[in-house]
Amino acid sequence: MSDVLERFLRYVQVDSPSDPDNEEEVPSSPLEHGMARLLADELTAMGCVDVSVDEHAYVLGTVPASAGAEGLPALCLCSHLDTTADAPSLGVRPHVVHYEGGNLVAGVVDGQAVETTPEQVPDLAGFVGQDIVCPDGSTLLGADDKAGVAEICALAARLLKDPSIPHPTLKLAFVPDEEIGHGASLLDLEKLGAAWGYTVDGEALGEFNYETFNAAEALVRVRGVMVHPGSAKDVMVNAITVAAEFDQLVPAAERPEHTSGREGFYHPTLIRGTASELTLSYIVRDHDAEKFSQRQQTLCDIAEFLNKRYGEGTVTVTLHEQYRNMAEAFGECPFLIDNALAANREAGVEPSVVAVRGGTDGSQLSLRGLPCPNIATGGYNAHSVREFIPVSSLETTVDILQNLVAKFAVPQTASQQAAR
Ligand SMILES: [Zn+2]
Repeated sequence: MSDVLERFLRYVQVDSPSDPDNEEEVPSSPLEHGMARLLADELTAMGCVDVSVDEHAYVLGTVPASAGAEGLPALCLCSHLDTTADAPSLGVRPHVVHYEGGNLVAGVVDGQAVETTPEQVPDLAGFVGQDIVCPDGSTLLGADDKAGVAEICALAARLLKDPSIPHPTLKLAFVPDEEIGHGASLLDLEKLGAAWGYTVDGEALGEFNYETFNAAEALVRVRGVMVHPGSAKDVMVNAITVAAEFDQLVPAAERPEHTSGREGFYHPTLIRGTASELTLSYIVRDHDAEKFSQRQQTLCDIAEFLNKRYGEGTVTVTLHEQYRNMAEAFGECPFLIDNALAANREAGVEPSVVAVRGGTDGSQLSLRGLPCPNIATGGYNAHSVREFIPVSSLETTVDILQNLVAKFAVPQTASQQAAR
């Protein structure tokens, strides 16, 4: 069994889902501490230096540079150690299925096969005759993102064992709570000391992401005027009715269920309240910065329109920016993109650039000054009991990462070259 497979099977059996109902604390679940401590111990045992794990379950470790690359900027590799609570995530029992074609059956639950059809995942055709890791069907697998964790750890172990593989100083970071939107927010970039990096947290092998959504949350508050319904004529303003009108004025075709690719959307996520007062939440997403701000303006315009109808102060919209498209961060360092594409090709994988319809840990890191595109892990069907990952994808990703770090063992810019 390869090192990366052995690690992966072990890590997914350590429960570490983040807890969306406890966002105030980091980590949101005490279980994440267990995963963090395990990783810190393993990094230390394999020979990483400066290994630390803090009270928020952030794990850091350093792989010293290979001979001759000591003076070059350090490269960060980051993945998240939590799994999502969107699907059952405790007590994962992984097993390796030898896939012979047809439906990929993870397991049988309540007499029902938990399976993925080739129509659902056309890539399955490429894995006939191969081994695929699946959960037993009662839980998710946790390849998102234990695959990323295992791949980075397997690379580190390989580099520490074989000093002939070129690489700069590597700063490894395993972070909690990515699945509930915190991710790398408390990562101490000064302490980390890397110039740039990659997150390893994608899906199918070869997918590469350096664009994400711009993201905001809009909190719509509706204040009604409540009187006894028997004497309500020309007086009552029902907050529920106004909220329903608000939602109908949001462009109907621009919802997640009707959009794909680079199309943005409005998505109502929560409604809570009564006829006298309620709160309606939306998330607003767009890759394009200008369209993104237009969308936010549209929500404000709807509020203004309804206030003219029902009275000033009936509807208020509060916007809160969540993250920005990380593509902005790569103008100065296009080599982060070129190197990743080349590293894939050298491993025999034709890369495909995909604009993420979401955010990554890298969206935050890139805007905080650590440009950080995203490399695939090889997993499929994340956040589902049908999640799986081919063994060959785990193994090839470690090779891609090895190709990638080798590219940073030489100067990337003219000024670095001149400094040597
Ligand atoms: Zn993830």
